[in-house]
Amino acid sequence: MFNWENIFATRSSRMRASEIRELLKLLDRPDIISFAGGIPDPELFPKEAFKQAYADIFDGSSVDAALQYSVSEGYKPLREWLVKQMAGLGVPCELDNVFIVSGSQQALDYLGKLMLSPNDTALVTAPTYLGALQAFNAYEPSYDRLTPNGNRTPEAYRATAEQAGGRVKFAYLSPDFANPTGETIDLAARERLIDLADDLDIAIIEDAAYQSLRYDGDAIPPILSLEIARKGDIGATRTIYCGSFSKTMAPGLRVGFVVANAPVIRKLVLMKQAADLHSSTINQMATHRVAEAGFDAQVAKIGKVYSRRRDCMLAALARYMPEGTSWTKPQGGMFIWVTLPEGMDGAALLAKSLETAKVAFVPGQAFFADGSGANTFRMSFSRADDQSIEEGIRRLGGLIAGEMISRAA
Ligand code: PMP
Repeated sequence: MFNWENIFATRSSRMRASEIRELLKLLDRPDIISFAGGIPDPELFPKEAFKQAYADIFDGSSVDAALQYSVSEGYKPLREWLVKQMAGLGVPCELDNVFIVSGSQQALDYLGKLMLSPNDTALVTAPTYLGALQAFNAYEPSYDRLTPNGNRTPEAYRATAEQAGGRVKFAYLSPDFANPTGETIDLAARERLIDLADDLDIAIIEDAAYQSLRYDGDAIPPILSLEIARKGDIGATRTIYCGSFSKTMAPGLRVGFVVANAPVIRKLVLMKQAADLHSSTINQMATHRVAEAGFDAQVAKIGKVYSRRRDCMLAALARYMPEGTSWTKPQGGMFIWVTLPEGMDGAALLAKSLETAKVAFVPGQAFFADGSGANTFRMSFSRADDQSIEEGIRRLGGLIAGEMISRAA
């Protein structure tokens, strides 16, 4: 019997099953209250609008184009809509700065492929989006910890990267309502990050997957916007903005986008030609129609529901979590991040919780490139109703309190 390991490329050794995807299976078990998945509530998908959009496409003159191959850059009217949308976010750009991808996850893969040679360093926050680590891992990078609020010097980053055998290529972060913490990077830290990127001569990958999902507080300009304000023009920027319709509309469409300076976009277009030619023509067309007809109303509708669920979860945490635990208070997004006392283990807690409390969440360690963070976990409030949030957090709080007592004993 031969061994596939002799045939697989070295890069495949770093591709591992995602704990979260495994956990998503638990959502189907009726006895479990799950805060594990981080997916949108299907009740909020704009189903009627999409039904109408697809019907209009099929009944009209664009059906042939909708079912045909199309250009790798993406459907022009959708890119034009995005140019207007980005202008509203303080990012003046042109059509050749906008590129459609099959979900923003694809952009992360392409950007890893474009920038990372083996042993180059990617700076990521700790914790960071697990899917980004999965995307970058295939390109065999080394990771170093990005601390947007910290004071590590460029020299320190440079020295670590040299030791790893390459150079720093980019800093990846999700500045608004990050997955997994729900936290937002403040304006001053965004500005400092641009300084750092300039000093290290690296790119910034700005993952804006949750950017539209702000429920309170004032919006902070995207890093790309701040950099354009400094440098005058998107052509002079090093920030690559990755957006998505998955959280605002529906992830099954697989429509995301990249906004960046034209030379980067041109390379990404070549990668898309090699990978999948273009994103689904018909889904881009339908997305454009639905976005044009009511993107803001859709975002407002989602915000109302998710913000209530967030409030409900925060209130329940305050009521039921024992002293010694702490959690984030996000102004948007889908996630709350809980920190247990040092020495407690999120994965062990999950195993117990599934048996006794029957509550699911995601242990935090998988979100850390350096394997730290064992005493943390992620909860999503996007799909739970008020009663399950109240009941789930009550049971979980009880379980954690019990664990803390038996540890102290
Ligand atoms: N970035 C972040 C931070 C995410 O949480 C996700 C989805 N889980 C993505 C990117 C990818 O989303 P999509 O490919 O559906 O646009």
